[in-house]
Order: sequence, then structure tokens, then C-alpha cells
Amino acid sequence: MSSAGHAVDQQRKSTTMKAHFVLVPMMAQGHMIPMTGMARLLAEHGAQVSFVTTPVNAARMAGFVTAVEAAGLAVQLVKLPFPATEFGLPDGCENLDMIQSRDLSRNFMEACGALREPLTARLRQLCPPPSCIISDMVQWWTGEIARELGIPRLTFDGFCTFASLARYIIFRDKLLDNVADEEIVTFSGFPMLLELPKARCPGSLCVPGMEQIRDKMYEEELQSDGNVMNSFQELETLYIESFEQITGKKVWTIGPMCLCDRDSNMMAARGNKASVDEAKCLQWLDSKKPGSVIFVSFGSLASTAPQQLVELGLGLEASKEPFIWVIKAGNKFPEVEEWLADGFEERVKDRGMIIRGWAPQVMILWHQAIGGFMTHCGWNSTIEGICAGVPMITWPHFAEQFLNEKFVVNLLKIGLEIGVKGVAQWGSEHKEVRVTRNAVETAVSTLMNDGEAAQEMRMRAKDLGVKARRALEEGGSSYDNISLLIQEMGNKQNASG
Ligand code: UDP
Repeated sequence: MSSAGHAVDQQRKSTTMKAHFVLVPMMAQGHMIPMTGMARLLAEHGAQVSFVTTPVNAARMAGFVTAVEAAGLAVQLVKLPFPATEFGLPDGCENLDMIQSRDLSRNFMEACGALREPLTARLRQLCPPPSCIISDMVQWWTGEIARELGIPRLTFDGFCTFASLARYIIFRDKLLDNVADEEIVTFSGFPMLLELPKARCPGSLCVPGMEQIRDKMYEEELQSDGNVMNSFQELETLYIESFEQITGKKVWTIGPMCLCDRDSNMMAARGNKASVDEAKCLQWLDSKKPGSVIFVSFGSLASTAPQQLVELGLGLEASKEPFIWVIKAGNKFPEVEEWLADGFEERVKDRGMIIRGWAPQVMILWHQAIGGFMTHCGWNSTIEGICAGVPMITWPHFAEQFLNEKFVVNLLKIGLEIGVKGVAQWGSEHKEVRVTRNAVETAVSTLMNDGEAAQEMRMRAKDLGVKARRALEEGGSSYDNISLLIQEMGNKQNASG
């Protein structure tokens, strides 16, 4: 940087030193992880950050805390006791991945809402006072706190802008009301023809009593001062513009958040402690040819039926390609364990690694041996795949994952659909097989081979990976947006005294 540029940068940092962001995530891995990234990025650009969490979640964030302390960043945790038992949840049930049935999701949301008063009291004590709240869309009650404190609130839904816009239209036009699950929903005003069966739309999961919470979220989003996205301008320009036009809200694309974890230790410590020895995992990957391994992982919440896991394993075996397959702790079925031990692991031992529990996903995705990613299309996983520059096989389960599939396959053209039948709603067990072993074998073979279509996808994915990294480099679109966001919130605070 030139000395003049350096001076401007320093001046900008000093004028924005006072900007103090309070981040209130939804307590679920897919929402907390990107917000820890957001905290780092804001702090690296000179802002102060208070990250609101609860004791159990704070314990999971040990790696993050160590990293921000080591980097000397102005990030502090604001820990609030979580009233689980008062709302009919087991003691210590502080994350969505800990609730035993989706029927308890309403209790969980209400317990979150009970943090309103204690959080307001804590925020009043913070010094310097907060200048802005960035909170998850589901933590709608933080809008009330922001008004009480006289500061802006920006919402974060953890989606890409493409899916956020679709979600917005669903709420606005009440597209899911009085519609049967299989009925096709059309999104009017969306920049492309978008049609999906109701059961594949975000918001279709509505346990009794959640409707009011959903309406509150929407009302508060309408009142918010803008939306922060884990995305970057070059990825979805049209949808960012459309979102701003249709909602009248400013969009701040400041991602990809996962790029804040720059070395393999930081990548490995994301979200939770890995259940595999990272060094061994890297050693295994080092022994494989570049681009030869398919990584299979379905995020933190999706549940896969035992028969489906067996079918998936048989498909991977039949493909003859090297693979890493993550079977999450919540999907540890005795019958699957028995089947794995009864010959499968032995048959694939030279080319297959199974991780049971939490995988160091980003660390794995960034390894040069990874040539493809079979994903459930959670947005974090999707953008992590984009950053790593790997093409994907899309296997959506629920929520906005079917929209992300469309985005990846039809618009970005860096993935192929596995062809999921039906919808596996979060938390509701399905016994049937939705994807056959043949479909798995065909998709893996097609993606990992040298055919023209696969090569083109690979090239496009690599190109997007480069663009993603550029967005967060100095002068990149997200880098500049972060600086502008800090400046704007700092100025607002100065103007109000
Ligand atoms: N993740 C991980 N290891 C795992 C499972 C998930 O690191 O074994 C991370 C993954 O990298 C991503 C997040 O957890 O950052 C999952 O978020 P996503 O939006 O993909 O899916 P969700 O879990 O919300 O369905």
C-alpha cells in the first residue's frame, strides 16, 4: 500500500474505532459459525464486537476465543444464562442441534426471547455503548432492544441473497398459506422464473404455534435497517439489486465469512472440536491425488435415515472413487454401525475415510486432494464449497436448501443434482430411501470423471473460488463493504451524540 493509502486507511480505522457491533446469532451451528466469522472480519477492520452467547455455546467456541485473543482483536463474549428448563427444555439444551424433537423448536425460540431483558440490561452497561445490533432474523425481539437503545438493527438470516429474496416473497405474499405440500408455488417478481412445491420452500416447516413467531420475524425484518449477507457482490449481483429494490432495504454483502479462518488450525477449530485427528486427516488427504477425493457431508442438523445411509455407502463403494464421508453424531444408528463394521469399512479401507461426529469441514475442503463435494446445500457448506473452488453434488434436505440447489446447479452451473425425491423435514424421521445407490454412483462418477460437463463445472468452480477470495482482499467488494458498514454505523453513533 502507498503511504497516502496507508494514512487514509489508518484515519478510517481511527474514526471508526468507536463503532461497536453487538452480534446476536441464532444458537445453531449453521447460524453461529458465520457470525463468528462476521465478528472477526468486523474486528479486523477496526470495530469493536460484543458476541452474545450462552454458557454451553461459549464452551463450543473455545477455538474462536483463542484465535481472536491471539490476534488481539476487540471481540468479547457477552454470556447470558439460558432459561432452558423454564421453557420445558432439558437443562443445558442451548443449541438447536440439542433439541430432541422439532416440536420443541417453539419452546427453544421462546427461551431465546426471554433473553430480551437480561440482554438489554447488559447492553446498557457496555462501554463504549453499542452502535448497532446485527442479529439473526429469528431473534426478532432484538429489534425491540435496538429501538429502546436508539440504535440501528441489521438482520442476518444466514441465507444467500437469492434465497433471502425468495423467502421474503413467501412472507410478503403469504405463498404457503392454505396450500398443500405438493402444490407448486410461483414467486412473482422474482428475477427468474422460480417455481417449487410448497414442501421445498423455506418456511414450510411450521410446528403449531410457530406461525406467530414467523410473523414477528417478518414484521421486525420490515422495520430493520438493512440485511447483512454471507455472500459477495460478484456472486449474485442481480439478486442483491432485486432484493434492495423489492424490500427497500440496504444489503451489506460482507462475506464469504469462512475466509476469515486462514490457517488449518483455525479452519479445524470452526464450530466445534473435530472428532478426528486433524493431522491424520491431512496425512490421509496428502496421500491422495489432487482433485481425486469426494467429500460427503450434510451439515449439522439434517437427519438421514439408516437405510439411506447404507444406500449412500453402497453408492460410494460402487463409484470406486476415494471419499471422506461424515456421519454426524445424531445419525449414529446401531444398525448402520453394524453394517459398516460388517465388511464395508474393510472393503473401502484403501480409499474411504469415515468421520463419525464433527468434521473439520473447511480444512478438508481446502485440501488439494478434494475434487468434489456432496452437500445438503446448507448455505454455509455451499459457500465454503464455492470458496474452495470445488464443484458439488447437491442433495438438499429441507429449509432453503432446495433454493440453494437451484442457485448452484442452474445459475452458477457448478453442481449437479443427485435427484432427491420428496422432502426430509428437519427433525422428522423418514424411513424411505430418497436417493438410490445407483443415483449416488452415477453422480459421483459423472462429477469426478474427465467428461466435458464435469471439466467445465470444475473450471467455473475454480473461477468463483478466485472471485470469492478477491472479494475479501483489500479493495475487494466485501472488504470495502465492511469498511463502509463500520464507517456508517460509527457516523450514526457520532451524529446521535
Ligand atoms: N460443519 C463442520 N463440521 C461438520 C458439520 C458441519 O465444520 O461435521 C460446519 C460447516 O462447515 C458449516 C456449518 O457447520 O459451516 C453447517 O452449516 P450449513 O449452513 O452448511 O448447514 P446446517 O448445519 O445449518 O444445516
